[in-house]
Amino acid sequence: MAIFDQVAKMGHERVMLCSNPDIGLKAIIAVHSTVLGPGLGGVRMWDYASDEEALTDVLRLSRAMTYKAAAAGLNLGGGKAVILGDSKKDKSEALFRAFGRYVDSLGGLYIGAEDVGTDMEDMELVFGETRWVTGVSPAHGGSGDPSPVTAYGTLQGIKAAVKWRYSAPDLKGRSVAIQGLGSVGHHLAGYLVQEGAKVFGSDIDPIRNEQGRQLGVEIVPNKDIFEVDCDIFAPCALGASLNDETIPRLKCQIVAGAANNQLADEETHGAMLDQRGILYAPDFVINAGGLINVYNELLGGYNRERALRMTRGIYLNLTRVFETAKREGISTAAAAGKVAEERIATVQKLRAKHWGRLLAR
Ligand code: NAD
Repeated sequence: MAIFDQVAKMGHERVMLCSNPDIGLKAIIAVHSTVLGPGLGGVRMWDYASDEEALTDVLRLSRAMTYKAAAAGLNLGGGKAVILGDSKKDKSEALFRAFGRYVDSLGGLYIGAEDVGTDMEDMELVFGETRWVTGVSPAHGGSGDPSPVTAYGTLQGIKAAVKWRYSAPDLKGRSVAIQGLGSVGHHLAGYLVQEGAKVFGSDIDPIRNEQGRQLGVEIVPNKDIFEVDCDIFAPCALGASLNDETIPRLKCQIVAGAANNQLADEETHGAMLDQRGILYAPDFVINAGGLINVYNELLGGYNRERALRMTRGIYLNLTRVFETAKREGISTAAAAGKVAEERIATVQKLRAKHWGRLLAR
């Protein structure tokens, strides 16, 4: 699709190409929406097969951030950046500083954070050029690793889903199968064990499995994780794990985990889970803890207690999504999109009224 058609179809406000051939910087910053606030989203560094692939990815990811922030009730819009390159070979101070100057030129319309292929050290290089970046170290007033807060938020979401399905949020005696015992999966397993749940897990990395075992997780072979007889399946690995092949194998009542883009196809697989009677906690609602955490850096000094308090709001946010799905007779995946879109539309209408009033003076 031609670039302008693609941008127009997805409704982006601004797309910026960042090029500095002397340094080897090729990056794209996409701001999908600033209706609710500045577009915050991670800086992904990936060796894309083509410029087109990078553009499609940044447009899709920035749009998803608009939905995530809206559903979380944050005063943030959606943005994302991609740096085209191999994160193992192509990183340099000059590259991230040059990128930081592009971020700065947007004057706060876009705010960066860590993402796949970038880390706290990279964000600190960006921070050398602009204040419009989060995810820097606590030494710089930042919030550090977001994974524990993402896991804490996922725990709140699991409780909301359990309450909705079984009428009580208690996790004691409930069983959970976690796919992926990485940064978020590991912390989530720890919380669940503490709450008295029986936890199964699997990771393709044997070290992660061993760390899980030490927490009390029963490790199952990777190929069997979808078929564990359990109350909750928690995808915490990569995206698209719920698809035509895996959904029929599930033996759970609830899908509630932290991974991004869990459904291979949002519409088809959201409906497929619904038809199977499995309650799906939409990924961008339940995994917003990391975003809520970095948002707290913007609220005048990072405060862990405030971040955790706001993260507990995921319980209510998810309950609202379940209620909408029930009321409207739609899948929870569709309901999550609707809740986010309604909030954006309401604020947009209020803003239009405000400007109308000012102009009429
Ligand atoms: P991570 O890389 O630390 O952990 C992912 C784990 O999944 C790794 O240990 C990896 O070995 C494992 N894995 C990959 N494929 C697997 C498979 N087929 N079966 C079993 N295990 C597999 O990443 P993370 O930070 O824990 O993030 C996990 C997911 O949550 C990702 O989808 C991420 O986008 C999403 N997420 C993370 C955060 C955060 O704060 N880190 C916030 C929001 C969403």
